[in-house]
Amino acid sequence: MEASVIVQRYREVMDRIAAACRRANRDPAGVQLVCVTKTVEEPAIRAVVAAGGTLLGESRVQAGRRKREAMGDLAVTWHLIGHLQTNKARHAVQFFDCIHSVDSLRVAESVNQEAARAGRVVPVYIQVNVAGEESKFGAEWSGARALVAASREMRHLELAGLMTMAPYADDPESARPHFRALRQLRDALNAESPDRPALAGLSMGMTNDFEVAVEEGATIVRIGSALFAEA
Ligand SMILES: *Cc1c(COP(=O)(O)O)cnc(C)c1O
Repeated sequence: MEASVIVQRYREVMDRIAAACRRANRDPAGVQLVCVTKTVEEPAIRAVVAAGGTLLGESRVQAGRRKREAMGDLAVTWHLIGHLQTNKARHAVQFFDCIHSVDSLRVAESVNQEAARAGRVVPVYIQVNVAGEESKFGAEWSGARALVAASREMRHLELAGLMTMAPYADDPESARPHFRALRQLRDALNAESPDRPALAGLSMGMTNDFEVAVEEGATIVRIGSALFAEA
């Protein structure tokens, strides 16, 4: 796709985020956009950065590493948004600035251990399988509290917040209850531990449902197709 088309798409997405913020009486500065570059290569990535993108999302550790090494000149942060296998935790810590997909105690422990080895504190989101879909990664609803509590004790993790993927549906409205449930869980966790630094973030919303996610409090949306898919 031509760079000018990607620039136009980026502007449209930002406008749609701003409009959703207005509907919800939110400040658009409170919503970040992760440009999900998993399906595209360097020319498209450079185009979206030229348009203003500063956060890039990849779902696989090795692809993210390859792209980051090829584009080390870009002033961006790299976000791992896909399921992480513990044997890739070292590279995940080495090549990503933020991990959105901590979905089990084992993954949390591995990231913490590798972050300690690297002398870093890594911002992470705890991924919650709000809808309980078999096909999706994410901590079960029933285990999310314990996973958050355990992760909070890990000195090399900075708990940025919670993440979810709503089940795919043609009607974005059907995602609303899932996003709302994640926000309520975050608020409940914060109320239960007033002595702890608050969990601030909600990583939720993709191409098909990001406006609903913003209306329900998303602080960071992860968008690929709306930026990069062939029309
Ligand atoms: C691919 C992906 C996205 C972006 O999806 P689009 O529908 O293309 O916007 C967001 N989050 C995760 C976890 C993904 O894997």
